[in-house]
Amino acid sequence: MADTDVQVEALHAALANVAERLADEKRYLTELDSAIGDADHGANMNRGFQTVLEKTEGMDGDPAEIVKAVGMAIVSEVGGAAGPLYGGSIMTASQELDGGITAETTVAFAEAYLEKLQDRGGAQIGQKTMVDAVTPAVHTYKKSIEEDGLPPLEALAKAVDAAERGVNFTVPLRATKGRASYLGWRSVGHQDPGATSTLFILEELLETATEYLDGVDSEDRDATSPTIPDDGDEGDGAGADGTEDE
Ligand code: ADP
Ligand code: MG
Repeated sequence: MADTDVQVEALHAALANVAERLADEKRYLTELDSAIGDADHGANMNRGFQTVLEKTEGMDGDPAEIVKAVGMAIVSEVGGAAGPLYGGSIMTASQELDGGITAETTVAFAEAYLEKLQDRGGAQIGQKTMVDAVTPAVHTYKKSIEEDGLPPLEALAKAVDAAERGVNFTVPLRATKGRASYLGWRSVGHQDPGATSTLFILEELLETATEYLDGVDSEDRDATSPTIPDDGDEGDGAGADGTEDE
């Protein structure tokens, strides 16, 4: 696995990506929260991660300490339900990264995060909360690594897919936890804001991990290094593979 300096660099890049994404999605998250809550989730998450950037800027050394500072910043800046749930769970789970960021420690982090989230919020799956996105993501990540032997990047991609299904799963549910539960049956048909912000964060972690891990873990570094063409006639190759697959 990459050494500590690279892990710290990747961590800062991940935080910047998450903060930017949440700023971009502020209105959308607020829209979701205005349907079944009090229209502050977008502002909460945006403010939280702007504070995260301020508080972690220039931090180096130990990834676990940086992640702990992330949780502390969120707890200190974001009130309501989401602040203590996100921040407290990140703070507690950060201890699991003591050995650096590896497949093993990230599984432990994910499990500790879910455990703390459920411990604090008391929500089970099916109550229309962020737990509905976190639970399938964590279980999928753990299984992909420990049972299927997938590399962390592929495991994370599967976890993001699982979280997305979890977000969609919240739509038909009646909320029975948090502010949305005040609406009772009127919460049915709306997507949960906290599950949605969880998905956005995971998507940005995947995006960053792809940048830092793609090819690095796969032993055959040659596959990612530039190859010298035998015949030297690659110069006019424009357009041969210029289409975007996705
Ligand atoms: P508030 O509800 O205090 O206004 P936010 O709007 O920032 O806080 O966050 C709302 C989100 O918090 C919900 O969409 C839901 O995902 C999550 N949430 C609320 N209560 C709980 C709980 N008990 N357990 C887990 N998640 C919860
Ligand atoms: Mg709210």
